[in-house]
Amino acid sequence: MFMRYGKSKLREGVTRITDGIVNEFLIEGRDKAVLFDTGLDLFNIKDYVAKLTKKELMVVNSHFHPDHANGNHHFDKVYIGAADLPTFTTADVYFKLVDDIVKATFARYPKTKKLQGLIDKLIMTKKGNTEYVPLNDGDEIDLGDKKLIVKAFPGHTPGSITLLDPALKFIYAGDASDMDIWMFTNPDCSLHEYAETGRRYYKEVEALGYTKYRGSHVPITHSITFMRDYADWVDRLTPEKAFLKFNTPGGRSKLCIAFAPSAKHLLYTSIYWAHQCDRALTPSGETEE
Ligand SMILES: [Zn+2]
Ligand SMILES: [Zn+2]
Repeated sequence: MFMRYGKSKLREGVTRITDGIVNEFLIEGRDKAVLFDTGLDLFNIKDYVAKLTKKELMVVNSHFHPDHANGNHHFDKVYIGAADLPTFTTADVYFKLVDDIVKATFARYPKTKKLQGLIDKLIMTKKGNTEYVPLNDGDEIDLGDKKLIVKAFPGHTPGSITLLDPALKFIYAGDASDMDIWMFTNPDCSLHEYAETGRRYYKEVEALGYTKYRGSHVPITHSITFMRDYADWVDRLTPEKAFLKFNTPGGRSKLCIAFAPSAKHLLYTSIYWAHQCDRALTPSGETEE
């Protein structure tokens, strides 16, 4: 494989595992450990984690995207936000999006069919024999001497969840909030809905004394004010503000990429569909006048 897992200690009892693209977090308590995400499956993460801890392991996905869930098939059981529970059919938001784009791309550019193998390996998460168990907002995970609390943060995907560590006042946010949120993977969510969720989430965790969080891709720890400020930035995005805009086969509208430097937070980036800027976006994909 062209990439190997590496690890670093984030703090006592927390190991960051990376394949160079996405970070997984191994959070250990006295009796039990949580593996937050399983990566792209460029390496056998189950064997890797077995060398790091002998504690009972609970595998949790931040959301159902291949860079976070491709290693799931190595495990018997994976916990995931209820709204991201996969059926591995086009009833799932993610599988529907990939199916729409891949079919339309193959029809328009037949030569791209050669990419089918790569798509199956990297983009389509293997079903395997894994049992998926739903997690809901407020669920507590008891690790013995400490606990983690599940907090929903829908937007990037309908079932995106974050893990709160109440003792350290620290949050593991997956892709729910970071410098670069791919909003286009959940085409029925408007940017304004995401912004409302982000601001509400920020207010709730701020009131509970949380100060810092970590996303899955950017190797820096954010102040939780990033969530609020990123949400405000996303709320103001329009198709015209995109730096790049292009037609994508199978897409409902133009795919837009926008970014903005920030004196306080360095950078904001988002990839979104033009229609997600509409205030009256309805799940059918139609916009109301
Ligand atoms: Zn994601
Ligand atoms: Zn990701």
